[in-house]
Amino acid sequence: MQSDQPFDATRRKFVGGLASGVAAAAVAGPALGQQTQQTNAQSNAQSASGQAGAAGSGLTQKQDPTSQYPQPPFPEQPQEWPGLASKMEPRPDHGEESYRGSGRLNGRKALITGGDSGIGRAAAIAYAREGADVAINYLEAEESDAQEVIELIEAEGRTAVAIPGDIREEAFCRDLVESAAQQLGGLDILVNNAARQQWKSSITDITTDDFDATLKTNLYAMLWITQAAMPHLKPGAAIINTSSVVAYDPPEILLDYSMTKAAIVNFTKCLAKQVADQGIRVNAVAPGPFWTPLQPSGGQPQESVQSFGEDTPMGRPGQPVELAGVYVLLASQENSYATGQVYGSTGGSGGP
Ligand code: NAD
Ligand code: MG
Repeated sequence: MQSDQPFDATRRKFVGGLASGVAAAAVAGPALGQQTQQTNAQSNAQSASGQAGAAGSGLTQKQDPTSQYPQPPFPEQPQEWPGLASKMEPRPDHGEESYRGSGRLNGRKALITGGDSGIGRAAAIAYAREGADVAINYLEAEESDAQEVIELIEAEGRTAVAIPGDIREEAFCRDLVESAAQQLGGLDILVNNAARQQWKSSITDITTDDFDATLKTNLYAMLWITQAAMPHLKPGAAIINTSSVVAYDPPEILLDYSMTKAAIVNFTKCLAKQVADQGIRVNAVAPGPFWTPLQPSGGQPQESVQSFGEDTPMGRPGQPVELAGVYVLLASQENSYATGQVYGSTGGSGGP
């Protein structure tokens, strides 16, 4: 279960080139290794050891994936929606220190919704390190998380564009795409990733406002943003939508959310057929449980957050960085024959 490299406490120092705000945020928050030792001492010390390698070549270094990242139990940590990555314990790993690029998206222009935190942040960091300019959308309440991402993109020498706003509004969705394309100088990659997930134990607890907000965020916005993006997308462009394992096996407490995630699979497969002859590929990602602010800010009951990922064969949740390579692959020309596909990453249960 040990990784190939010993734990090196100095890895917690941020790599050179990072702007001070990000470094300060990282220092202020609990270090992943320190935190995990408090929650699950032995196995998570090994996690920290695995993370130590991440300062070097951690993502590609051979190691046991079950102990590579923190395992439950996690501390109770309720947050107001939409939640901040900076307040999570342990802090999610979005690849800030570990993701290394190799020019796979050189010169591309990407727009990522929900790019401030979680899976969208992991994609944003990876895209920038692969040579892309990146625009992120998020809610105004998430400005502090977003600024960390902006600094990380700029640290790569890439253009970073921050466009806060609520995608439940059609007019904003259309402005978002125009603004991103104008500030980036075009658009090659669209990642529809933002989502609303609020658990309710009974169908009778789902208000019309809840239902409306979930469908607006997860489905209408995907339609409006993709419609607005179409005139900008040229052959070689890629659209990537974030679905979920719940599209295939919906938990009883996520009725409205799960139906949108199933619809995203269908939207992806249908649109892929529609735009294939334009040279545009459309794929989806179906993650299992990932350690992001979506969960403690109403996505799950608190007791489920504390044991999050425990019931997967891997015994732990995924960290956002573990999806970075999938989002890069789906955007990259290396994957030129894949369209209308759903890529899973679930820790071993469920999925496409
Ligand atoms: P996250 O909270 O980090 O990201 C979701 C983002 O959605 C937020 O950061 C926020 O910026 C954005 N958002 C929500 N409502 C919005 C609105 N009205 N306007 C603008 N932006 C809004 O959580 P995450 O888990 O990284 O979520 C990213 C995607 O991954 C979502 O589509 C989610 O459904 C999917 N997903 C997550 C998991 C998981 O376990 N975390 C599992 C399967 C799928
Ligand atoms: Mg967020």
